[in-house]
Amino acid sequence: MLRVSHYLRLLADAERSGELPPPPTRRGGAAPGPVVIWNLIRRCNLTCKHCYALSADHDYEGELDTAEVYRVMDDLKAYRVPVLILSGGEPLLRPDLFEIAARARDMGFYVGLSSNGTLIDAAMADRIAAAKFDYVGVSLDGIGAVHDRFRRLIGAYASSLAGIRLLGERGVKVGLRYTMTMLNADELQPLLQLMRDEGATKFYFSHLNYAGRGNIHRAKDAQFAATRRALDLLFEHAWRDARDGVAREYVTGNNDADGPYLLQWVQQRFPRWAPGLRAHLVAWGGNSSGVNVANIDNLGDVHPDTMWWHHRLGNVRERPFSQIWDDTSDPLMAGLKQRPRPVQGRCAECSHLDICGGNTRVRAQQVTGNPWAEDPGCYLDDAEIGVESAGERIAVTPFGARAR
Ligand code: SF4
Repeated sequence: MLRVSHYLRLLADAERSGELPPPPTRRGGAAPGPVVIWNLIRRCNLTCKHCYALSADHDYEGELDTAEVYRVMDDLKAYRVPVLILSGGEPLLRPDLFEIAARARDMGFYVGLSSNGTLIDAAMADRIAAAKFDYVGVSLDGIGAVHDRFRRLIGAYASSLAGIRLLGERGVKVGLRYTMTMLNADELQPLLQLMRDEGATKFYFSHLNYAGRGNIHRAKDAQFAATRRALDLLFEHAWRDARDGVAREYVTGNNDADGPYLLQWVQQRFPRWAPGLRAHLVAWGGNSSGVNVANIDNLGDVHPDTMWWHHRLGNVRERPFSQIWDDTSDPLMAGLKQRPRPVQGRCAECSHLDICGGNTRVRAQQVTGNPWAEDPGCYLDDAEIGVESAGERIAVTPFGARAR
């Protein structure tokens, strides 16, 4: 995840003070554990087109019960996991969600909630506010009928927007989560405006990743030109807020080429700060699946991140999360933990590998069968990655067809 507003705030401060601080270095002591995205329930009242969990509106057998969740939580705390993002399915459908959230808060985790927003009426908003989530992300993929089409439910937009408003009225820190494909690329501008109008504090821009229904619909992924236009727009909004001292957050996810692209944006507008900013972006290091971000699914299976549900590292009923996470006997996990990662093709030659980290390995694996092939979702051209000609790009084939 690229914290765009963080870097642009550094830049705005540098413009004011004439100085860009060096990137932070980690002081002594054990490194923190990963951020854990925890799909506590797979059931969902929606069947969204890009759902990585392939969720549907029925119960799933064998999900972790409350006592098991608490046991895992104790292990996560001991392993220095700082953040839990409670997700689903639709997490509000889990009857013990608020008990779990309260326990997590009491244990000192930063606790986020990821919801589709459609079940947030006044009573639910009261419960969410009382639970004191640090942040609630609500998915919106467009305005009105566009969102409804994505979410496959007429009225989903109206319900989610009502939920966002009810949370805002109660002082909950709420953000919008948007996943872009060719079908909703034009919705970004109105959604950014909606964020302002509704007083939301965060905008999460997600590229499409090829997992679950997102993989089935990968042929609808945004074309590179549309992606670049979207990023330009997002950077302009984030820069305006950073310059004006507005505390709204803009982050992007699922395409770490956003890091080099942000650097390029800075080089064109503020060349004097580009080398310093580059050092900050290298310190970030790009994709952190299997390192700084982890996933536990509804059955207790552990994955390198939420997009790797087709790759199981172990189960928390059989081994503690901490042991599973440190175990590099799994070749994928070993590669993800390696720096630099053993990427191939144009990613191996790329002059920005130290920023991007080789991007999202899921797309490479889903399209070619090889998790270390170039990421077919990289929207930077050969000149931009510093190679003369990396040869023919791997095409994003429709679901079911392998490239090369
Ligand atoms: S070529 Fe690969 S490593 Fe370079 S920016 Fe693109 S995805 Fe990242």
